[in-house]
Amino acid sequence: MSSVWRNEKELAELLIARANRKRKVTLTPETALFVGLKLMTAAEKPTRDEVAKMLCNSKCLQLCYNCQGTANMIVRVYGHRVDPGYDEVEGGVTHQIGSRPEDGR
Ligand SMILES: [Zn+2]
Repeated sequence: MSSVWRNEKELAELLIARANRKRKVTLTPETALFVGLKLMTAAEKPTRDEVAKMLCNSKCLQLCYNCQGTANMIVRVYGHRVDPGYDEVEGGVTHQIGSRPEDGR
């Protein structure tokens, strides 16, 4: 760990605060390894829609409301993969993830 952050939530908050201020972030090799391993783990998780498809007993072509609701509860607790460019709408807030480098900063 580091003297700047004590746990992954603190690190996440520091990164998000820098991003919100349009500031670059430089990571130490130790922190980069930690973040990389966390992202590897996150990349293995299913998306919310993939969880809903796993749950659906009637194998709906369009994800049904009940399966989406259950999938939302599951991914809220266990997390899920978010693919770049995917717009996640949660609680009325849209997060644009994966903006192109020229859009950033
Ligand atoms: Zn369903």
